[in-house]
Amino acid sequence: MTKTADDRARSRLLQLLVLAAAACISIPGCAFVGQPSVPESNAPTDLRRPASTPAIAQLPFGNPSNATNDPANEDNFLIVRDSSVISYNNRRGTANWIAWRTTRRDLGGSIARPLFEPDPDLPDDFRRIGYYDYSGSGYDRGHLVPAADRFGNPDQFRQTFFMTNIVPQTGDLNQFPWEKFESYARSLVYRGNELYTISGVYGDAGRLRNKITVPTNCWKVIVVFGRGQRVDTITNVTRIIAVDMPNADGIEDVPWERYKTTVRAIEERTGFDLFRSLPRDIQDRIETRADGN
Ligand code: MN
Repeated sequence: MTKTADDRARSRLLQLLVLAAAACISIPGCAFVGQPSVPESNAPTDLRRPASTPAIAQLPFGNPSNATNDPANEDNFLIVRDSSVISYNNRRGTANWIAWRTTRRDLGGSIARPLFEPDPDLPDDFRRIGYYDYSGSGYDRGHLVPAADRFGNPDQFRQTFFMTNIVPQTGDLNQFPWEKFESYARSLVYRGNELYTISGVYGDAGRLRNKITVPTNCWKVIVVFGRGQRVDTITNVTRIIAVDMPNADGIEDVPWERYKTTVRAIEERTGFDLFRSLPRDIQDRIETRADGN
């Protein structure tokens, strides 16, 4: 588990590449989701290259909240790892959102659960959220990236137990509709698809130990691609499943499908701009259509 110097250098490089991508988002005409109309000369080589890096692979459709890795940006602080990208909110004590990719290689047989642990990549002056901050609260330690989405890689599996990947969820949400949607998503991967997922929270249903905001809602948006499909081939007919679930008791029998919604509705409730690197007309089409409609 010890990080080597190479790992650290690589991790730093990935972070820089994602920052370059984030900067790119604010440049008109510059997008990582390939836009053949952008002339090569207008796109610096070092800004285009990240399109194929693992870090960008977790967040190919843009940074929904313009998160940055400036520690002063404590409510929208960007953490980039090779298996996920996080916007962390130090005031909430949880992520705003986290994005990741799931392929067949990421799945596998169940492995022993590690301990939950504080995220080692948070700035020193951020509040330290630990396992015990949830104890006795009545809330589950709900994973955003499901542990089972990372059985295939022990180090990445361990990262799903970092507290930045955890939000307070009711047992009824965590163990029923939320879990069932996670399982459904993995079934899509087993059937030959690759998923780009972004998931987060909003709303304030109280505080745990005056450190952690309990969300009123947990949301998730999954882009379903065929195996090996390039991210720049997303179109208005690409399957996108958006759900917005209440963090409530008494929903253990509610099918997850009942919580399908549109990306646009999630954007309106969170203030984030999902798919922001796509042209506005494509966003207008894919964000206003619920799955199955
Ligand atoms: Mn959008």
